Amino acid sequence: MTNGPDAAAITERSRLSFDLDVDIAIVGAGLAGLTVALEAARLGASVAVLEGRHVGWNASGHQLGTVMPGYGLPISDLIARIGFEDTRELWSLSKEGAEYVRANATEALMPGIALSEGALEVSNVEAGDQLIARLQMLGEDFETEVEGWQVDRVRAELKTDHYFHGVYYPKAFQIDGRKYVHGLAALARRAGARIFEDTPVVSIDSSGIRKRIVTPSARLRASHIVLAGNIHLGAPLRRLSETLLPVWRYAAVTAPLGERLADAMTFKGSVTDTDGIDHFRVVDGDRLMWASPETTWAARPERFAPAIARRIRTIFPRLGRVEISETWGGAVGQTVHGMPQIGQLRRGLWVTSGFGRQGLNTSAIAGQLIARSILWGDERWRLFSPFELVWAGGSTGRVAGYVIGMWGRGSSAAAGALARYRERSRTQERIREARLAEANRQAGTKPPRRRPPPGRPRPERPQPPASARSGEGEGA
Ligand SMILES: Cc1cc2nc3c(=O)[nH]c(=O)nc-3n(C[C@H](O)[C@H](O)[C@H](O)COP(=O)(O)OP(=O)(O)OC[C@H]3O[C@@H](n4cnc5c(N)ncnc54)[C@H](O)[C@@H]3O)c2cc1C
Repeated sequence: MTNGPDAAAITERSRLSFDLDVDIAIVGAGLAGLTVALEAARLGASVAVLEGRHVGWNASGHQLGTVMPGYGLPISDLIARIGFEDTRELWSLSKEGAEYVRANATEALMPGIALSEGALEVSNVEAGDQLIARLQMLGEDFETEVEGWQVDRVRAELKTDHYFHGVYYPKAFQIDGRKYVHGLAALARRAGARIFEDTPVVSIDSSGIRKRIVTPSARLRASHIVLAGNIHLGAPLRRLSETLLPVWRYAAVTAPLGERLADAMTFKGSVTDTDGIDHFRVVDGDRLMWASPETTWAARPERFAPAIARRIRTIFPRLGRVEISETWGGAVGQTVHGMPQIGQLRRGLWVTSGFGRQGLNTSAIAGQLIARSILWGDERWRLFSPFELVWAGGSTGRVAGYVIGMWGRGSSAAAGALARYRERSRTQERIREARLAEANRQAGTKPPRRRPPPGRPRPERPQPPASARSGEGEGA
């Protein structure tokens, strides 16, 4: 099955059982750690990756494989925080990150990776005006290929009236996410990196020029340590783990849906909504892969199968009941400011984490920046310096994060329901007016002129936005 574990790629695990001296020691074999390992090994460094469980054990082995430009933080917030020029540079790095994944994710390098093009971001509310502004900003200021899809187009491709406008990214793509993380490990090994699994790092001493790492059965010395442990880093630098709010996200794949699926959805790329509630796409021709619920504590993913099946039915009622054949989940590390943690904490001690829900392109940027800084002196990682390490609030933060997340998702869902209600009332009003006009036509009478109710000004005729008047853009 697509996205299923790749037996061929999972090699026998080797635990570190002897002392070792390397240039770069990396803690964690997820997307973040493995990308640094691959890049540093390609540039000629001796590299050891120490993984407490196994390659892709957490989020990296359980993601949906959608590769988009950008970050978890909306562009407008980035501009407000660091200004237009730096935002442009960060945005351009995010596109480079996506292209880095594309360059690795070829059938020749990662057999079965199944890259396919195009992703659609849909809106839960009617937001045509905002869409035009967004398209202009992305297209003109940030040189990103985007198309604006009108409501009709969105609904022709996704046969549901749940969503309104859409932004289509033709250059975004999707891959088999699990194959990618194992493929990265294979490429890193081929480039000379050594990956040790079942090897938790229990402590580090980063004070000297040569840094020390302790694992249960061996010690390491390295000139650089890269912390890529995400929320599970723990003992080696607990204060760092505490700058991340852990959020568990759950996903599922349905049993084959046959012809039913073609009646519900013809779009082949990934679909995400602007509020971060749903994320789905078709896999294996007739199954739906769907990520939706989140918690701030670990739970058994099977628990969420009924909720995901219900969610699918809410969005695509014509599918009827769907059977879930597999569920999984992983924890992402959410930072307080919404941007990843990429940089040097002290001489020779590096961090790459906090990638949230968008880890593929962002961990790729981090891997390249860190390896190039260590080996070539490239200082571009400093673009991320304004996003300092902020304590995420410990267990109180988790509860607050959950409540805020629930509230955000609840209010988005409510706004979506309201927008769909308004749309239904407008349609009914149009039908009523058409019937009235037809009745008047048959009776040979003119329709009565409707006056605005007393005290209410006569409504202005709405003007299309300037860009639509001049025929710019395809969008709303
Ligand atoms: C359901 C789901 C769907 C997603 N879909 C997408 C998507 O479509 N597109 C996208 O871009 N992103 C997606 N993401 C987000 C993405 O998966 C993450 O941002 C990314 O995987 C984070 O990678 P990481 O390497 O930082 O962390 P992790 O994957 O958590 O890897 C960290 C590793 O470090 C190890 N480790 C920790 N501490 C130690 C220690 N002390 N010693 C040794 N080893 C240690 C852990 O065992 C772990 O294997 C999704 C996430 C989930 C959960």
